[in-house]
Amino acid sequence: MRILAGLFALIFWLGCGTMNANQRQGSGARDPYLEARKRMVQEQIRARGVKDPRVLAAMEKVPRHEFVPVRFRADAYADQPLPIGMGQTISQPYIVAYMTEQLKLNGDEKVLEVGTGSGYQAAVLAELAREVYTIEIIPELGRRAAETLKRLGYQNVHVRIGDGYRGWPEKAPFDAIIITAAPDHIPEPLIEQLKEGGRMILPVGDVYQELVLVTKTRKGLRKERKIPVRFVPMTGEVAKHPPGEKTDQSAPPQEP
Ligand code: SAH
Repeated sequence: MRILAGLFALIFWLGCGTMNANQRQGSGARDPYLEARKRMVQEQIRARGVKDPRVLAAMEKVPRHEFVPVRFRADAYADQPLPIGMGQTISQPYIVAYMTEQLKLNGDEKVLEVGTGSGYQAAVLAELAREVYTIEIIPELGRRAAETLKRLGYQNVHVRIGDGYRGWPEKAPFDAIIITAAPDHIPEPLIEQLKEGGRMILPVGDVYQELVLVTKTRKGLRKERKIPVRFVPMTGEVAKHPPGEKTDQSAPPQEP
């Protein structure tokens, strides 16, 4: 009788063990995508020059496959952007890592993202900063991203549905700002919501786009053109402000 009870206890214990291991998505040895993620970091990100160890660790940790539609899961760690529905895309892993590294986060920051999309970039930021505020203009995408982030346990990401052109004034100023849809000029309200000493990275342009890093210093704005990129266009209010409207937009960005 005692042996039988022991046997039952053992079977129950084994059962629980398996369940827990399966539930620990994204971090345990049972994550079927862990190897693919490590390879992605080595071959696509580190090999191309991203060095910040905290950024590399975040890219290795965040389960990108959870942010892509189920039918694209097998390609979640491939060297390319992927469709996420509503005509939008999740950026290529290298671009996510590159833009994140440019923000030079140390863990204490309040960050604003415009263009939540799948929520993947927000999750990467959440690993590296204190609070992340992210705005998405397409309600369905914003809602889905908020659900994914909640399911994965991210408590320091706050999703708002709306037009990010005017930023999130109630939470400003921000230590860092990242825009993941391309405007044809740098939105003035976002410059205003950047802290002195803060950094903003964004794609700028129409057909031809470049990543621009904006640093706000006591003396003014420093703009550095980085690499050519291809993002979906920013929509909404941005279209009402032609590129030449603001005087400081008409000056070409400075080289580093
Ligand atoms: N960062 C995302 C990818 C973004 S794709 C990710 O990690 O998955 C760009 C997103 O910006 C799209 O979802 C698009 O709907 C959104 N977008 C475009 N214009 C916007 C605006 N004015 N305000 C907020 N979001 C916007």
